[in-house]
Amino acid sequence: MRPIQMVDTRSQYLKIKSEVDNAVLEVLDSSAFINGPAVKEFSQNLANYLDVKHVIPCANGTDALQIALMALDLQPGDEVITPSFTFIATTEVVALLQLKPVFVEVDKHTFCIDVHELESRITPRTKVILPVHLYGQAANMEAIMAIAEKYNLYVIEDNAQAIGADFTFLDGTIKKTGTIGHIGCTSFYPSKNLGAFGDGGAICTNDDELAAKMQMIANHGQSKRYYHDVVGCNSRLDSVQAAILNIKLKHLDAYNGARQAVAAYYDKAFGSTNKLTVPARADFASHVYHQYTLLLNEVDREGLVAFLAERKIPAMIYYPVPGHKQKMFAHFNTENQELPITDWLTERVVSLPVHTEMDEEQLAYITSAVLEFVNQ
Ligand SMILES: *Cc1c(COP(=O)(O)O)cnc(C)c1O
Repeated sequence: MRPIQMVDTRSQYLKIKSEVDNAVLEVLDSSAFINGPAVKEFSQNLANYLDVKHVIPCANGTDALQIALMALDLQPGDEVITPSFTFIATTEVVALLQLKPVFVEVDKHTFCIDVHELESRITPRTKVILPVHLYGQAANMEAIMAIAEKYNLYVIEDNAQAIGADFTFLDGTIKKTGTIGHIGCTSFYPSKNLGAFGDGGAICTNDDELAAKMQMIANHGQSKRYYHDVVGCNSRLDSVQAAILNIKLKHLDAYNGARQAVAAYYDKAFGSTNKLTVPARADFASHVYHQYTLLLNEVDREGLVAFLAERKIPAMIYYPVPGHKQKMFAHFNTENQELPITDWLTERVVSLPVHTEMDEEQLAYITSAVLEFVNQ
């Protein structure tokens, strides 16, 4: 059996190696390393794929979130409502910009913002709702957009884990996640569903004014060469990464399909025991399984992870400490905030390997080991 990894970027690369190698060599040959033609081409292709007006490439997903927030003319102390149950980048940029993260509880099944709790967190200082489509499952964007409209708030989607997912509105309209809020942010970190061979990120929007502003912010606040209108940053997707992403984008639906097939295998195997709750699939969105995350019901999590490790099966806890318990936010006094579902999930989740290169032998081996432990 091939060794089992959480992600297998190498095997994925080998399947498209000659095409990727040629594209990289072409960039090297042209030496158009910064803002070369591949960057423009990829941005256009991604905009077409997502069916969104503007795609602004940038250096990574964290920068994408930062640039999005910088474009909204916020004042220090303005509040951003966001889940505590997410990767730290989502909330870190809020604090970095002197804004205040206001944590909202997540839904116990989808692990995304609980839209019933959302309104109770709104204050006169609230300016932005920042939902996260965690593990590849979309938050309830239809409800979030309705609340945002009612209170005149911006919505920035953290789509780093759900690129390619479809969201279906009650009237049947389908949109890609990341294109529903005012701004969507994504990451091309190598292990993401659309992964580069290094860092990368992108911001998308249908708003012309916001697009122009974010483009300017990502480029030193520059309106024309050496004329700097606002304080910005330097955040670029480099040409080599864009050339690689251009090839991988063509495979994104197949990659997500492969992840869904892995999830279906796991779901079937684990459906037989009430010790494990398989990831919920909301009826409003497809799940693209950036992670396959089980909820353990009275199972010793550390014991399970150690048991799997002995059998050379990696398993990860995403994320062991929720935002409101992180030291970096101590000055917001968030540690005493009551987020019982977030705490409850944090103690019970475990993520199994899911990627595009898994075979049935590996899946059979993993599922039988997990079941052996939980049923013992
Ligand atoms: C990966 C990730 C980010 C940050 O992306 P980078 O490219 O690593 O900066 C932000 N939010 C979430 C939810 C992520 O998973």
